[in-house]
Amino acid sequence: MEIIHVSAECYPVAKAGGLGDVVGALPKYQVKLGHIAKVIMPMYRTKFLYTNEWELVHEGGQNLGPHWFHYSIIKEKTNKLGFDLFLVDINGLLDREKIYGYNDDTERFTSFQIAVVDWISKWSHKPDIVHVHDHQAGLIPFMMKHCFVFNHLADIPTVLTIHNAQYQGQMGWDKSYYLPSWDRWKWGGLDWNNSINPLASAVKCAWKVTTVSWSYLDELKYMSAGLENLFEYEKGKCVGILNGIDNEVWDPSKDPLLKQTYSKLTVDIGKQANKKELCDRFGLDIEKPLIVFIGRLVGEKAADLLPDAISSSIYQHHGNCCFLILGSGETAVEGELADMNNRFSGYINTYIGYSEPLSHLMYAGADFLLMPSRVEPCGLNQMYALRYGTVPIVRNTGGLRDTVTDFGDWQGFGIRFDNASVWDITYSVGRAIDLYTNKKELWDWMRGYMMDIDHSWDSAAQEYIDVYTSLK
Ligand code: ADP
Repeated sequence: MEIIHVSAECYPVAKAGGLGDVVGALPKYQVKLGHIAKVIMPMYRTKFLYTNEWELVHEGGQNLGPHWFHYSIIKEKTNKLGFDLFLVDINGLLDREKIYGYNDDTERFTSFQIAVVDWISKWSHKPDIVHVHDHQAGLIPFMMKHCFVFNHLADIPTVLTIHNAQYQGQMGWDKSYYLPSWDRWKWGGLDWNNSINPLASAVKCAWKVTTVSWSYLDELKYMSAGLENLFEYEKGKCVGILNGIDNEVWDPSKDPLLKQTYSKLTVDIGKQANKKELCDRFGLDIEKPLIVFIGRLVGEKAADLLPDAISSSIYQHHGNCCFLILGSGETAVEGELADMNNRFSGYINTYIGYSEPLSHLMYAGADFLLMPSRVEPCGLNQMYALRYGTVPIVRNTGGLRDTVTDFGDWQGFGIRFDNASVWDITYSVGRAIDLYTNKKELWDWMRGYMMDIDHSWDSAAQEYIDVYTSLK
């Protein structure tokens, strides 16, 4: 089967979050299952672009409304990632340093999608599946069905995977002329609440919709930033498939980014060496349990609660814990956390920014990983933590609910709480300190148990293949 993934992110080419991890791994595992999987993404100015070799495979031109643009498709020469990787270069629009966050993101990603469909429409054969990821590729199922020039692609099955429904890419109807001439009777395929909504459009037009965990699929029916009725209506074609993790990248016994690698047998010494590295670097006390947070500092992740929850935990639990935060996001949260570094020096430290090496070291050196998320479609961090023997402290939501059980339950190996509140976090930190200080035997058992859990892509990759097969 030939599968074409279209995405705005793909690790290690360009990653802002979980979408990048998934698109960097799933195709590789589909290739291992004997299929042809290809990834098409925008060509940003990232390090990966400049440190690899490329060949030009296609040049074309299309219109974004009245503006004609030229695009080129380049292919990575060596199959380095384990699948064919294609980048779409649109001069002046896509070739920027950041992935998102520009005023013309609508124009950037709409042109990207037009270029992708235009290129596929020129192929001498048809792929078996076009698999689009999130709203940045969400107009593709509509275009393949209803744009006149792409009509011959209408019988190719399309699959949408929703990694995060909070972002939908809405644009006003005044931009409807951006798309190549399309069947105006089908305007409902683009519309949601009087604007063009690429994510809603993909939910309506894709042949099948998947979400990255089972619980998230349920939650979307009552909490999806305005799309609740749509998910209720389209539930028949939606299915939850829990993300996997790339066991080759995330392996504590081989991870080159660690101070000391370790396996289940050497977890105690291995983690201690990595913890020492972190504590030395960030001025924290190695004797105390180290609780880390890694992620975007935004409301979705409940990062706004961190400053109060951390100070409350330090006071309530008499300073018997340390915190290390890695992330960037809302300026107010960044500022408050930076301020806390001084007020609670020795108890908390924060690294504002994005650092892949530091994140690996933190998964390995931490005792606990905190994820109080308000919304968590799947969450990969907790799965990395499990693989690295770090006990997850998570809110009971989305993929966190599907992957972590509380140690108070039978064979539980994590700490779960219900509300995204300062009180729930403080209470859970208390349970973590108790586990660390008084229940060493249970804690050791939990670490061994969680490191054995298989969250690899092998079975999830097959589940996607089953979805594709059901569409043929
Ligand atoms: P998201 O909602 O951000 O996609 P996920 O849990 O699905 O959340 O994926 C987050 C991924 O991004 C993980 O691989 C995590 O380690 C990584 N990550 C997030 N923030 C940072 C950061 N500041 N530095 C390094 N890695 C980060």
